[in-house]
Amino acid sequence: MEFRLIDRIRDRTALAREDVRLGIGDDAAVLAVPAGQHLAVAIDTLVEGVHFPHGTAPRDIGWKALAVNLSDLAAMGATPAWALLALTLPQGDASFVDDLAEGFAQLAREHGVSLVGGDTTRGPFCLSVAVHGFVPPGQALTRSGAGVGDAVFVTGALGTAAGGLRLAQGRVPFDPRNELHRSLRKRLDRPTPRVRTGVALRAHASACIDVSDGLLADLGHICAASGVGAELDLDALPLSPALPSVFGHAAARELALSGGDDYELCFTVPTASIGAMQAALAAVGSHATRIGVIVEGQGVRAIGGAPLAATRGGWDHFGP
Ligand code: ADP
Ligand code: MG
Repeated sequence: MEFRLIDRIRDRTALAREDVRLGIGDDAAVLAVPAGQHLAVAIDTLVEGVHFPHGTAPRDIGWKALAVNLSDLAAMGATPAWALLALTLPQGDASFVDDLAEGFAQLAREHGVSLVGGDTTRGPFCLSVAVHGFVPPGQALTRSGAGVGDAVFVTGALGTAAGGLRLAQGRVPFDPRNELHRSLRKRLDRPTPRVRTGVALRAHASACIDVSDGLLADLGHICAASGVGAELDLDALPLSPALPSVFGHAAARELALSGGDDYELCFTVPTASIGAMQAALAAVGSHATRIGVIVEGQGVRAIGGAPLAATRGGWDHFGP
């Protein structure tokens, strides 16, 4: 249904891959999985007002819908290849769909991802993207491999997107002329999935997760899945430079611990592998900060301190 909209999406996202034997236009796509690889698949749904603020530009929505999924593949150490897009729209607004497809395509081109199909339906605005990637058998990064004594690392900076969300929600009024404000908001709207970093970590990390719900929540998932605890050096947390100057130091740290939507990678590394891991990240132009250590027990706490509980300050997720 809605053939003209589907044509518009196909035209804007066209990206040839030899392994796409049949793409958009038939009842199903036909895809050639490379010999000797396993498929890693993920799907994420974005709901307006829940996963992005009302009034977000359609280009940013298209980018983010793919970015959050590529981030899931990155956390597994998988190389992305194909995507599906299920789009529900209240009306067939061609320019809205054009912009959404264009934002999606910008990020898809960066990672050589081909949109091979989807579904287009009428109803309250909502979109789901599914992604497929490849990982060599037995090499996927999981949440369950962290061992006592492993160091905890995180890529990039934390709390940036949560700062952007605060500005979007008007708790601190957004000033479009303020460059710091713009940098925070940009992180919320256009997260950078750490795809090359995830692949580079395959040989070195013992466990990995992407930070979508906040560091405490997501590192907590690694701990629960691995049957261990973690101690964080709160002074080592890499904060976005804009955060303390916009919100003050205490709030900046809180956002870094509890704020979601940064889509950085949090991972654990046996200490003997730290040097090799750092070299592998440098080789792909990436960097990670050491923020803590895996310990016996359960849950996340400050080094030598009390358990840390995530404060609810961001989105209302139904997730774990
Ligand atoms: P069917 O009714 O057989 O499911 P559709 O009319 O829904 O077929 O879709 C026609 C073709 O367009 C299919 O190949 C489908 O995968 C593709 N398609 C539909 N919606 C989208 C979309 N939003 N993005 C990409 N491809 C889409
Ligand atoms: Mg259909």
